[in-house]
Amino acid sequence: MKVALIKPTIGRREHSLYVDEGRMEPLTLGVLAGMTPPDVDVALYDDRMESIPFDEPTDLAAITVETYTARRAYEIAAEYRARGVPVIMGGMHVSLLPEEAVEHADSVFLGDAETLWAQVVEDARRGRLLPRYQAPPGVAQSHGALPRRDLYKGKGYLPMSLMQYSRGCRFACSFCAVSQYFERDHYVRRIDEVLREIEEQDRKFLFFIDDNIASDRLALRELCRALIPMKVRWISQASLDVTKDDETMRLMSDSGCIGNVTGFETITPESLRDAKKSPNIPGFSNYKREVEALRQYGMQTWAAFTLGYDHDTYDSIMATMEFALRNRFTFAAFNILMPYPNTPLYKKFSDEGRHLYGGKWWLHPEYRFNNAAFVPKNMTPDELTEACHRVRKKFNDPISLLYRFADVRTNMRSLWRAGAYWKYATLFRKELHKKHGMRFGLK
Ligand code: SF4
Repeated sequence: MKVALIKPTIGRREHSLYVDEGRMEPLTLGVLAGMTPPDVDVALYDDRMESIPFDEPTDLAAITVETYTARRAYEIAAEYRARGVPVIMGGMHVSLLPEEAVEHADSVFLGDAETLWAQVVEDARRGRLLPRYQAPPGVAQSHGALPRRDLYKGKGYLPMSLMQYSRGCRFACSFCAVSQYFERDHYVRRIDEVLREIEEQDRKFLFFIDDNIASDRLALRELCRALIPMKVRWISQASLDVTKDDETMRLMSDSGCIGNVTGFETITPESLRDAKKSPNIPGFSNYKREVEALRQYGMQTWAAFTLGYDHDTYDSIMATMEFALRNRFTFAAFNILMPYPNTPLYKKFSDEGRHLYGGKWWLHPEYRFNNAAFVPKNMTPDELTEACHRVRKKFNDPISLLYRFADVRTNMRSLWRAGAYWKYATLFRKELHKKHGMRFGLK
């Protein structure tokens, strides 16, 4: 039996293909492969940089679907199904919107794969795939499965090993699909299994792709203590409230954490309240204390902002970029507020009649990457799109790159840090221009 695991690309540029040069290992597919019975032949096809051999004999195609890749995922499914190959789809988008995915697949998988994947493979082997599998969210790789990292070889992924310690987040930001999916629960993996996974791969630079590694501080401290003797460098995603906890910050730094993706979202308190961004709200004073703590512990922060809240104006968006630049964040993402399906934000825009693209921007043939998909309060959708693109360009222009680099406590802390800064800052700058305005899907 042969199973093909597929990671779809987002789409293409107007007149050419798009190859994501900042692509990371698809951990989900590596773990699925690791949980597949050993007598099954597994292939991993990454649509971001290689052609999928649709005509190769295959018994099951399993496609992981995010909202941004849904249109392309459905195109891939159609190719396989036209050749009589059964298709199963899973991933966050499928769990949030199964009624859409069932139109494009023979089977949909809702929830986390750990408890039911072996059954899916067995059912496919017998030709009795169920139309729907529903598994609870839970601990990553709960039976000790390790990702099949051999399947990543030769695919040009960034030189960092992706792994996962915890899933979910205790907060409930209104735009976030994570809190919706995990219903604010947080699931933590056994430390000894994480350490075994680190030992069984050969890199010293790790990316814990946890939704919020700081959701449970005690668990995070336990991980940090265990990582200290491993002598690794690591990054993750962490909510801003962790900066108020000196002991955890010290342990993160001692264990090799060089920085995190952190959601600042907005610099206006009214928008923070609109977004229900509770980790950022208590004692809000324009993030002075938080930014100082990040610098004190040498964190090379990737600050994530969301633009387009009802209190946002053109001027507030420019002020957000100036705030990010002034604080010399290593990287920053200026994301347009996106109504992901079945989030509170999506429901709000539905109630207020503010969706564009029929409320399904991820499938609409006219939608373009990084464009506003709703009607903002104080701007037109085009003005919001333009303002966001403008701040991205400004934050990443050569003068800004030099200005951000000149921080001895973060980017210039060591030769390694300086090298990492220039490598990724130039890569992200290039990708930013390539991706803007891309079409979704390849057809
Ligand atoms: S803190 Fe981050 S992961 Fe948690 S709900 Fe908010 S946006 Fe989502």
